[in-house]
Amino acid sequence: MFINGEWVDAQGGATFDVTNPATGEKIGEMPDGAAADAELAIQAADAAFAGWSTTTAYARADILMRAWQLMNDQADELAHLMTMEQGKPLKAARFEVGYGADFLRWFAEEARRITGQWLPSSRPDQRFLSVRQPVGVVAAITPWNYPISMLTRKMGPALAAGCTMVLKPAEATPLCAKAIFEILAEAGVPAGVMNMVTAQDPVPIGDIFTSDRRVKKLTFTGSTAVGKMLAGKAAASLQRVSVELGGHAPFIVYPDADPEQAAKGAAALKFLNSGQACISPNRLYVHRDAADAFIGTLTKRVSALQTGNGMHDGVGVGPLVNAAAVEKVAAQVEDARSKGAGIPVGGYRMTEGDLCDGHFYAPTLLTDVTPDMTVYREETFGPVAPVVVYDDVDQVIELANDTHYGLAAYVYTQNLKTAISAFEALRFGIVGINDVNPTSAAVPFGGMNDSGLGREGGHEGLDEYLETKTAGISLR
Ligand code: ADP
Repeated sequence: MFINGEWVDAQGGATFDVTNPATGEKIGEMPDGAAADAELAIQAADAAFAGWSTTTAYARADILMRAWQLMNDQADELAHLMTMEQGKPLKAARFEVGYGADFLRWFAEEARRITGQWLPSSRPDQRFLSVRQPVGVVAAITPWNYPISMLTRKMGPALAAGCTMVLKPAEATPLCAKAIFEILAEAGVPAGVMNMVTAQDPVPIGDIFTSDRRVKKLTFTGSTAVGKMLAGKAAASLQRVSVELGGHAPFIVYPDADPEQAAKGAAALKFLNSGQACISPNRLYVHRDAADAFIGTLTKRVSALQTGNGMHDGVGVGPLVNAAAVEKVAAQVEDARSKGAGIPVGGYRMTEGDLCDGHFYAPTLLTDVTPDMTVYREETFGPVAPVVVYDDVDQVIELANDTHYGLAAYVYTQNLKTAISAFEALRFGIVGINDVNPTSAAVPFGGMNDSGLGREGGHEGLDEYLETKTAGISLR
């Protein structure tokens, strides 16, 4: 663990193993921390806050830029580590390292634009000044599916704002987190500013993070159930909260869309990270006029995907994170099958040859999907593309909005009016219009309803780490 600028063991001395989801092999071990370790980390972050929050924005920006450069210099090593620990194919891991690094650069630039306002008063002898200051110690809990970019998306703005942080990375991917902390230390982040506690059991750490009065903000990315629970606890301490949670993205193909282009987009997007992404499409609504061409192209594309160890050339789909994830996907597919779904491709676990030691599920296409199927309502987090054919263009937005989630949605159309109307009517925080990657460090990312609170990235991403303070000044 990394506490007050030192690499330390858990106070209890315990460790836990980290394994490769493609092979089942042990690839490392990390300290198994507990509540007392989390408290030490908070103490270090609290002690470092006075110094860090009063450094100049220029100094903080320089450190962030150095970290950005180091991430780029080490992109290959980081990508290899990510593929080994998390499973995504090497090319996707390289992409994530670049995306993750970009948050450090974006927020390095934004650090120097934290400004205030000089405001009018009704009294001639009074002036108002409002400034923005860092909120204080931030507690962060991150997931395993994007084990580097989900960290830098929180660290970038926290460091830029002048906050200090305690982070607990996901138990499945602590080695990627360790590599990022090594980079931050090398870039010159002072002792105590960034701290990391690793643990196999997240519960006691989450309890301390949400109850310690020194922690002023909780930022969490993960499942809706855990996010709601932690936000509830943080509310009791009146901590500021941002939570980026699950999704159930609709992907709408209008009758005027190019169905092949849309199918290529759906295939590229759905199987990214083996479907383990909160913005992964979960309901593909295709107009009947476009259905044959769309399903035909998608079937070909999905059949051509190569599944296996992400280290191997040509592999486009890696393993799922663990056995429970495979179980969940298999159960959703069996439920859909039993209720009448067609399965032109996939629909089975992959256990032949080398794959038997990993957690693999075949890229799967489901057709004739209906609202009574679990896959229509619950997040799959796996390589399954459920297609729903619709007839009424005027009703499709209503269908798309019929979910408790509200993170990402996708629209394919050649008609500008249709695109803009859909964008405005969809109750989702992020909408891809003929586009499968509507994300960037420069734009706000986040969801509505059960998909979370707050935004990460963009100018808004920095606001989450700032507190506004007002001065009334008498000229009398
Ligand atoms: P997923 O289903 O994607 O693994 P989780 O919400 O379970 O999503 O995990 C996301 C992060 O939340 C991980 O770092 C995990 O350790 C942490 N986490 C899970 N349960 C709890 C909990 N009860 N208290 C605090 N953190 C938790």
